[in-house]
Amino acid sequence: KEAHATQKTLQSLSSSSQEGTEKVINLDHGDPTMYEKYWMMMGERTTVVIPGWYSMSYFSDIKNLCWFLEPEFAKQVIRLHKAVGNAVTEGRHIVVGTGSSQLILAALFALSPKDGSEPMSVVSTAPFYSSYPVMSNYLKSGLYNWAGDARSFNKEGPYIEFVTSPNNPDGFVRHSMVNRTGGILVHDLAYYWPQYTPIPSPADHDLSLFTVSKATGHAGTRIGWALVKDAEVAKKMIKFIELNTIGVSRDSQLRAAKILEVLTNTTEKHGSSDSGESFFEKSYHLMAERWRLLRAAVNNGRMFSLPDFAPGFCHFLQQETQPQPAFAWLKCEDDAVEDCESFLRGHKILTRGGRHFGVSPKYVRISMLDRDINFILFLKRLSKIQS
Ligand code: PMP
Repeated sequence: KEAHATQKTLQSLSSSSQEGTEKVINLDHGDPTMYEKYWMMMGERTTVVIPGWYSMSYFSDIKNLCWFLEPEFAKQVIRLHKAVGNAVTEGRHIVVGTGSSQLILAALFALSPKDGSEPMSVVSTAPFYSSYPVMSNYLKSGLYNWAGDARSFNKEGPYIEFVTSPNNPDGFVRHSMVNRTGGILVHDLAYYWPQYTPIPSPADHDLSLFTVSKATGHAGTRIGWALVKDAEVAKKMIKFIELNTIGVSRDSQLRAAKILEVLTNTTEKHGSSDSGESFFEKSYHLMAERWRLLRAAVNNGRMFSLPDFAPGFCHFLQQETQPQPAFAWLKCEDDAVEDCESFLRGHKILTRGGRHFGVSPKYVRISMLDRDINFILFLKRLSKIQS
C-alpha cells in the first residue's frame, strides 16, 4: 500500500506542470523552517510575554557557576533530557551559549593549554561538519588550529576531536576515531533527538553539546547548551562567554525555556490519547515521510544514490526506528558529473558540496528541514532531472 502511494506521489511530481521551474531552491543551510507548522498548531501555548522591567540585570543566577544561566532554562533542559532519555544530566554543569556555535568556540578555548608550545590540533572524521575547520582557523589562534580528518591524523601529542553523532553531513552514528591518550573529545549531539535517530541510551560523555536549533527548530533564538563534567572546563567555557558576549540573552533563554517546557509536556503525553500532539512523534513521522519520498525519487533513476542506514531500537519511541537525518548526503553516480554542487546549481538547487566537508565533490549535503513547499519542489526537480 505504501509503495503504491509513493509511486502515485512520484508520478504526480514528474507529470506536474512547469510550475516553479524558475525558482531557486536553497537547501544549502540546515534552516529548520519545517517545524514552523507544528509550533503554529500549538498556538498561544508557547507565547512568552516579557515586561519592560524584567531580566534587565546582566546576572541570571549569581549562585550558579554559570552565572548567566537562567534557572528556568536549566530546569527545562534537565526535564527534557530525562523525558527523552538522550543524555545524563546528573553530575554535569550546564553552560548556556548563543547557539551551540558559541559553545564550540568556548570548548576550543577551554580545552587548549594556555602555555602550550604550539597550537592544539583540532580534528574530526571526514565528512565533518563544515564549520569546524573554519571556526578553528578564522582567528588564527595561538591556542588551537585545524588538523583535518581524524582518520589520517597521526601527529604525536594532545588533540581535540569533535565527535558528531549522528553526523552532519552524512547522518551516521559516530564514535571517536583517533582513540589515543592525550585526546579530548567534544561530543556534538545537535541531532541526537528521536526524529533523526534511534535513541538507544542516554549519552554520558565528558562534554556534550546540544542546540534548540535542531531539537525544536528554533534556530533564530540562538540558544545551545553544553553538559560538562569537569568544573574547571566549565569555568573556562564560562570565562570565554564572559569575554565574548558577557553572558547569553536572558530573553532568549526565557523563550527557549517556555518552548522546552511545552515540548516536554507533549512528550509526557506520548502514547496516550493526546500523543497526536507529541512533538517528537509528529516530527518523526514527518521526517519518515520525507525520507520515503526522497528515496523513491532517487531510486527512480541511476544518477544519484543515498547512504543506507541500519535501524535500531529507540527507547523513547519504544519501537525500532530508522535513522532519518536532517541532511541528505547525496552522491552523483553519473561519471560525467565531477562536481555535484555545480550540477545541481545548474538546476537551481543550492546545496553544499563535499569539499566543504573534507571529501569528494561528487557528494552534496541537502537540507531535509525546509518548508513543505520547497521540499516538494526539490523532489519535483530531482524527478525531472532523472527523467
Ligand atoms: N553543530 C552541528 C553539528 C550543527 O549542524 C550545527 C548547525 N548547523 C551547529 C553545531 C550549530 O548550531 P547552532 O549554533 O544554531 O546551535
